[in-house]
Amino acid sequence: MNKLIDNFGREISYLRVSITDRCNYRCIYCQSEKEFEFIPHQEILRFEEIVEIVQEAVNLGITKVRVTGGEPLVREGIVDFIRQLRKINKLEDISLTTNGFFLPEYAEKLKNAGLNRVNISLDSLQEEKYKKITRGGSLEKALKGIDSALKAGLLPIKINTVLIRGINDDEVEDFVRLALERPLNIRFIELMPSGGELINEFEDKFISVQEIKEKLIKKYLLNPIKISTANGPAKYYQIKGGQGTIGFITALSQHFCKTCNRIRLTSEGKLRPCLFSNTEVDIKQAIRNAKTDNKIIRRKIIKNNIREAISIKPEGHKLNMKFSNRDFFKMSKIGG
Ligand code: SAM
Repeated sequence: MNKLIDNFGREISYLRVSITDRCNYRCIYCQSEKEFEFIPHQEILRFEEIVEIVQEAVNLGITKVRVTGGEPLVREGIVDFIRQLRKINKLEDISLTTNGFFLPEYAEKLKNAGLNRVNISLDSLQEEKYKKITRGGSLEKALKGIDSALKAGLLPIKINTVLIRGINDDEVEDFVRLALERPLNIRFIELMPSGGELINEFEDKFISVQEIKEKLIKKYLLNPIKISTANGPAKYYQIKGGQGTIGFITALSQHFCKTCNRIRLTSEGKLRPCLFSNTEVDIKQAIRNAKTDNKIIRRKIIKNNIREAISIKPEGHKLNMKFSNRDFFKMSKIGG
């Protein structure tokens, strides 16, 4: 079996694909409320192009794909897209990150199309606060989305909870209770410097997961465990007597670059080897400029572009609390 190894000996087996920069929410840490420029439709990768790229990535050694956005479930044709991905031989795992709003409608269809599992973003368990963080979102819909994902068997379900000081840090124990009562893997994620107005008060709003963990350890018995689908940056713990788990993701306070196994494909068709570096390979232009339907030529171009992206994957990022404006990145475009 082929393997993609980068210049620092890391095996790259995981591709995150952002299929749209559009979203039905405007989370305060992700997007600006007022000014947002969407990528013109013709500049967004077509589903056929994405499938072609994923096929070659799998031929080179990718085994896992996560579909994200923007909100992936706002893009028309998503179910058929997942069905096409499922046909790719040797693609072992297909997952999707969503805010859950459309899951009641889609969970079962996605499961039938071949989706393995979902990550659902949930930053508050209080209706008003949820609405404030997402700018207009519906907690009720997100919770129904979780129910439908459980019912459809899109397992294991990971819940992404971004920690924001003074906004949802008072709810940490409510989330722990959720993991006690339901078979959900709650992941507390450190705030990152991406778009949204929150960026102006980033240092005040940032909380390290270490701080949260220390508080929880005093109250709960946390047993470190391994989750079969989790070889990413999260560290998971079972809480005594609980059905689910809790996990911690430390993008800023402790880099996990040494074990980074991923590469991203942005919605406008660029391969991005590191979330925190603006260096990208324009695979869409390379394919479109070739102006050919010849499969052999297209496959060669795609493979060369993927190899190039892997060859420029940096050893690590230098981002820390002292980032500059230059470091901001647009999560909605790149895909979280
Ligand atoms: N719309 C989908 C959703 O809400 O899950 C998928 C896209 S969203 C960009 C993917 C993930 O990135 C979400 O879990 C979100 O919380 C996370 N995210 C976005 N901006 C972030 C930031 N500044 N810091 C930490 N996580 C962030």
